[in-house]
Amino acid sequence: MGASNPHPHGQLWATRHIPTTPAKEQELQDAYLRERGLPLLVDYLEVEKREGTRILLENEHFVVLVPYWAVWPFETMILPRAHVRRIVDLSEAQRDGLAAAIQGLTQKYDRLFDVSFSYSMGVHQAPYDGHDHPEWQMHLHFYPPLLRSATVRKFLVGYEMLAEAQRDLTPEQAAERLRAL
Ligand SMILES: [Zn+2]
Repeated sequence: MGASNPHPHGQLWATRHIPTTPAKEQELQDAYLRERGLPLLVDYLEVEKREGTRILLENEHFVVLVPYWAVWPFETMILPRAHVRRIVDLSEAQRDGLAAAIQGLTQKYDRLFDVSFSYSMGVHQAPYDGHDHPEWQMHLHFYPPLLRSATVRKFLVGYEMLAEAQRDLTPEQAAERLRAL
């Protein structure tokens, strides 16, 4: 999904401050835990499990779903079933479950348009700032750019840049298509 030359690569960012997106997630997760007494994303997964329409893959330790707020056409999230604050806290069995979930999802992505499917994937987890952060639930985001085919991608333009995101398909439609592959 890089701009110059398509190639797989990974990056790890370690900063002295918490960047805007994880900072916002932390603020909301912290408020939710104080109000409701349980982590936001642990509770959210229960909602998704009850509804079932946006889940496309699951195993003993992880669930792959299209979040209801998805902006990218086939945006997904991988959530642990248990409360896990950081990736290093995963047990060996959970680690294997995460690997299987990633493999299952990326195989579905590749089959969607019969192409090596590009995406940005990232792990969000509790910061290392000396605090426990019980509000945090580690999770993965996948942001793929392709919309209708291997060559037709989504651009965030116009109203989306200046006002708010517009959806090309519903999260339920995206989950259904990925689940069927
Ligand atoms: Zn996140």
